Amino acid sequence: MTIGRVRPAVAAMPSYRPGKDAKQAEAEHGITDAIKLASNENPMPPIDAVVAAVSAAAAGVNRYADHRATALRAALAAHLGVADDMVTVAPGSSGILQQLFLTFVDPGDEVVYPWRSFEVYPVYTQLVAGVAVTVPLGAGHVVDLDAIAAAITPATKLVFIANANNPTGTAVSTEALAGFCEQVPDDVIVCIDEAYREFASAELGDPITDLLPGFPNVIVTRTFSKAAGLAGLRVGMAIAHPELIASVDKTQAPFAVNALAQAGALAAIQHHDEVDRRVAELVAERSRVVEALAGQGWPTPPSEANFVWLDTGANTDVWFVELEKRGVVTRPFSGEGIRVTISTPAENDRFLAAWADVTS
Ligand SMILES: *Cc1c(COP(=O)(O)O)cnc(C)c1O
Repeated sequence: MTIGRVRPAVAAMPSYRPGKDAKQAEAEHGITDAIKLASNENPMPPIDAVVAAVSAAAAGVNRYADHRATALRAALAAHLGVADDMVTVAPGSSGILQQLFLTFVDPGDEVVYPWRSFEVYPVYTQLVAGVAVTVPLGAGHVVDLDAIAAAITPATKLVFIANANNPTGTAVSTEALAGFCEQVPDDVIVCIDEAYREFASAELGDPITDLLPGFPNVIVTRTFSKAAGLAGLRVGMAIAHPELIASVDKTQAPFAVNALAQAGALAAIQHHDEVDRRVAELVAERSRVVEALAGQGWPTPPSEANFVWLDTGANTDVWFVELEKRGVVTRPFSGEGIRVTISTPAENDRFLAAWADVTS
């Protein structure tokens, strides 16, 4: 029985199933000490300044938060070197992505993105009854920008490029993206999803300085979930032309970024040196893990994020379970590969040892 006349687009959708956590894996396999390398979270607890700011803000939650998150937006704008009206915030960058669909996509409109890529793109496309146009990744699991440009039609409203791409970790330069944007009609919105911005090499360029001035149809999204380690608080941001930001802002639920989230994100910006140090540690660990994997005969695509991609093909499901039995929970993509989050040195060693064991 169904209660109410659920929209066909929603009725056809699967329910969201988050990745398994360590506790579930322990119960399933009768083990202890499992570690979760499945969701690209930051393994380190939030910096002290964030915990203090969130605790202090808790005393004021009888009041609604500032709907416009004025202080947070201003701090972000100053930090990024853009005008205040070029920045907005949302509950996670997934929140911004959903707002982009609500702003631009009517039923039947086309949304173009590479595949495999971030899993919310197909979910949100279906939610608004849009038409997903997926373009296979090119050589080396890198986004094929020419093929994406060729897939754009008069029905296309939105294009998503996750840079770095989740789950393969590969990224393209802003020079390549500028060449791509030249081929995109002015009235098609290009979202550069930079959830892993802080983990990428500076040589790839910065779309805020390299793309936004020339392309008012480009919107850049970033998040406090990964580098700043605030996944549980839910704060993401978008940077774009003020008119585009104003359109996207209309679709936000009232007071969507809650008071604790605003306070925590603000503290993370004010103490970004500490966040940057942690990111540098994770990037160094990424190099170490990548080298160790290559030493085990497992070269990985160059990662510009806090995870690595293992091309496990037909062995994916079996090896994923074998890793899990050894207490290492990763993210499998059946028949394709396994995504492994870079963590602390001790947890990365656990993974490397388990991987050697499983694949030997
Ligand atoms: C993790 C991730 C996000 C968003 O995460 P939020 O927690 O919603 O900010 C967005 N895009 C990609 C590609 C991601 O991997």
